Amino acid sequence: MKDKYDVIVVGAGPAGSSVATTASKAGLDVLLIEKRQEIGDPVRCAEGADKKGIKRHIKPDPRWIAAEVKGSRIFAPDGTKLQISEELFGAEVGYVLERKIFDRALAEQAVSSGAEVIVKTSATGLIRKNKQVTGIHARSIGESVDIKAKIVVGADGVESKVGRFAGINTTLAPKDIETCAQFLVSGIEVDEYCQFYLGNNIAPGGYAWVFPKGRGIANVGIGVLGSRSDKGMPVKLLSNFVKHHFPTGKIIEMVLGAVPASGPIEKTIADGFMLAGDSAHQSDPLTGGGILNALDAGVMAGTVAASCIEKDDVSEKALMEYERQWRETIGKKISKALVVKEKLVTLTDEQFNTLAHSIKGKCDSTMGVFDIVRALFRANPKLLWEFRNLIK
Ligand SMILES: Cc1cc2nc3c(=O)[nH]c(=O)nc-3n(C[C@H](O)[C@H](O)[C@H](O)COP(=O)(O)OP(=O)(O)OC[C@H]3O[C@@H](n4cnc5c(N)ncnc54)[C@H](O)[C@@H]3O)c2cc1C
Repeated sequence: MKDKYDVIVVGAGPAGSSVATTASKAGLDVLLIEKRQEIGDPVRCAEGADKKGIKRHIKPDPRWIAAEVKGSRIFAPDGTKLQISEELFGAEVGYVLERKIFDRALAEQAVSSGAEVIVKTSATGLIRKNKQVTGIHARSIGESVDIKAKIVVGADGVESKVGRFAGINTTLAPKDIETCAQFLVSGIEVDEYCQFYLGNNIAPGGYAWVFPKGRGIANVGIGVLGSRSDKGMPVKLLSNFVKHHFPTGKIIEMVLGAVPASGPIEKTIADGFMLAGDSAHQSDPLTGGGILNALDAGVMAGTVAASCIEKDDVSEKALMEYERQWRETIGKKISKALVVKEKLVTLTDEQFNTLAHSIKGKCDSTMGVFDIVRALFRANPKLLWEFRNLIK
């Protein structure tokens, strides 16, 4: 590890590896640091991602594709089922990944593009000259080090401290976070569909999911809105769900985690500094999916970093181009999803059932998520008045 780089990226998740690959390909000298000793482990993810989106970033490799799915089924609290095909579902369905291997493959891609990657190295603070970020303080394999950079990118996930070090408010209110628990369940029968279960008794302000990984294994999880959850609630609800749906299943792994569900954050840049991925709250507030947005935002951040360094201007004003690009694309999508989420979390189980009944039979497997939102609005304009501006 040198003491100076063009760009330091903090966090080797999808966002960080994407920034590092893009910036290295553009000819920059890049360091990617990861606090854990193994990139991608432990996995805090249901591992669903849209095939086309993934293929934009990395060549598919059977080593990190656990299963390919045909689509999704959404179940209302009374069991009414809606089915959506894979191409139309959105960013979370297509592949079920093996993220332990996928995240590592993304980091390997950064290395082969020229980036230096170092694990067991944690950013503990930012070096600043006046207001400008000029590097990081870090603990690397037990030692304190200072490393300089023209731009530091925080890609340190939902619990981002690096954003806060740069003076950006990354705190999430309980109503803006989904608290999740997930079991890897083996010895069960699952087909090639991802399943989503709605209901206030199942997952208040969230949903339960079953993502098949092949060979009788699935990620089975639950997300509960932070403001309606208490300590231990996601695990308790998930245990009940698994007992009910998979009584013979064996739990072979368990993870706890959180997903930002706030919609766009106020700011993602400062002088010499950018935020990308979950640290910038770029995940979808409705589904909780964030892998693709993290990869896409990483490309935008890496590209803008390269052009700003080339022009020798890394001021907040120059980095504004990144902010403009992601708000125009990811920002618009997540703002729309936020409107839907904010309404859905207020519905009773009876209202969920009414909505599902209202489009049952009118909804076929050629409809995408926003086609369904449109159909729901048409059938229930009074109940879903907040959706009126989404229906264009
Ligand atoms: C239970 C659950 C299920 C999910 N399911 C899905 C799904 O099916 N599909 C989907 O698209 N998304 C899903 N998500 C969301 C998805 O996992 C994230 O959106 C995605 O991982 C974000 O990528 P990222 O690179 O921004 O952050 P992360 O993947 O969280 O990576 C951040 C990295 O930064 C490292 N780090 C943190 N602090 C420091 C530091 N100080 N120094 C150095 N390194 C640091 C961390 O160790 C980590 O490796 C799920 C999330 C959860 C919790």
